[in-house]
Amino acid sequence: MTTTVNVYQNYIGGQWQAAQSGQTFPNYNPASGEILGYFPLSGEADANAAVAAARAAYGKWRLVPAPKRGEILFRVGELLKQHKEELARTMTQEMGKVLKETRGDVQEGIDMAYYMGGEGRRLFGHSVPVVPVELPNKSGVAMRDSIGVVACITPWNFPMAIPTWKMFPALVAGNTIVFKPASDTPLSALRLVEILYEAGLPEGVVSIVFGPGGTVGEALLHNPDVAVISFTGSTESGRHVAIEAAKSLKRVSLEMGGKNAVIVMDDADLNLAVEGILWSAYGTTGQRCTACSRVIVHSAVRKQLVDMLVPRIEQLRLGNGLDESVDVGPVINASQLTKIHSYTEIGKEEGAKLVTGGYIDNGGELAQGYFYRPTLFTKVRPNMRIAQEEIFGPVLSMIEVPSFEEAIAVNNNTKFGLSSAIYTQDINRVQRAMRDITTGILYVNSGTTGAEIQFPFGGTRGTGNGHREAGIAGLDVFTEWKVVYTDYSGKLQKAQIDE
Ligand code: NAP
Repeated sequence: MTTTVNVYQNYIGGQWQAAQSGQTFPNYNPASGEILGYFPLSGEADANAAVAAARAAYGKWRLVPAPKRGEILFRVGELLKQHKEELARTMTQEMGKVLKETRGDVQEGIDMAYYMGGEGRRLFGHSVPVVPVELPNKSGVAMRDSIGVVACITPWNFPMAIPTWKMFPALVAGNTIVFKPASDTPLSALRLVEILYEAGLPEGVVSIVFGPGGTVGEALLHNPDVAVISFTGSTESGRHVAIEAAKSLKRVSLEMGGKNAVIVMDDADLNLAVEGILWSAYGTTGQRCTACSRVIVHSAVRKQLVDMLVPRIEQLRLGNGLDESVDVGPVINASQLTKIHSYTEIGKEEGAKLVTGGYIDNGGELAQGYFYRPTLFTKVRPNMRIAQEEIFGPVLSMIEVPSFEEAIAVNNNTKFGLSSAIYTQDINRVQRAMRDITTGILYVNSGTTGAEIQFPFGGTRGTGNGHREAGIAGLDVFTEWKVVYTDYSGKLQKAQIDE
């Protein structure tokens, strides 16, 4: 029996189009090696055509009343809800994480659609429309203005949520979009764009271009008609994006890597801590920007924590994420598998103790996929590479500390600052952690993952450039403040001048 594999196209300015080169690239299932489809191997010309289409659509879209733009997002939310299961299955097939997590990924998109749909009737940010002014018979209005063409460049680990976190605020604010999704997850991205149009988005407002970051992404960084780059990905790529985009003074929002820690104090509820560590270290196969990759444990409970954690890690079942009994899916691709294993070797060379895992698992049903056994290192020192560098896989490093103060210092001593967690029963320690941990997100008595869309999301240092996604703060990247003063006194009034 032969099965046909679909060949997909870019959607530019309301037209389905092959790449101008005529070439395609395959989309693989990382659990089975199966080819799910072929996508256009686009280049600079395709990216520039998409920017031109977005530029052309901008004039009309910015004038569509914001509540109407919001209504389209409400319909998008309904459609995402309706197609939640099928979207989740597509995502599991192309990037591997288990179904309950891909359902959660779609849910984040649904939540964001409703949240940003509501912004269509607000959009007032932190200000009030008429601000007090210092002169009589004069008024001032501070309003959020759209900016223009936004390029959304996204990673593969949240193929639905991350694009919605960028596109929905950008759209409700009146911008048009060129969407360049990760090459590992093109199909979920395409489905999202189809839903946007099914919900009534006018043609041209969003274009999607598939192809490598090195060509399509690069073209977007250099196109003068792109006003904003919203990027999520590795710190290495993000730094490059910032440098290139700065040359034409584009606005750039960067959401990048993490080296997130769970702190377990001597008074922690260890049962709770074990659950939180397992979920945030090995969920999504450790491939979350907020994944826990360090446990900083007080000496008094280290042995007990290890004894409780190891059997639970060893029970985790690897396999195809479509199987509901599987806990941990494959990693995204062969090069990531190699990279993860190289860190196991680095950890051993550095003198850390490999307690469990540490190998590529290709036995039985796992033979065709990219599976890595959930791994735990103990006796890790804070400056080892496995405690400092983002591995982006199911590898956890445990660092023992003698005190709360030392735990905070170790937590803060990385070049990233996305998410941290602390397990303690002591309210004073909680307050001090809130004050002293340098991070974008802090969880108390919960693991490092689980952000909700109504709060700002992002990190410090090498994780970001100060912008935030989601919540009201998520609008700041996609809007420009415009202030209009109207003097109705009929004479020249001079602000700040003593007369
Ligand atoms: P990546 O390799 O940096 O790729 C991210 C996106 O950038 C992809 O669409 C990629 O295209 C594109 N790209 C690559 N080179 C580019 C260039 N020169 N110019 C323009 N675009 C370029 O990251 P990834 O491996 O997909 O994702 C994993 C990383 O994302 C991890 O570091 C993780 O921590 C981070 N992440 C951060 C957050 C956050 O919110 N802080 C959330 C999720 C993930 P191709 O796919 O074609 O290479």
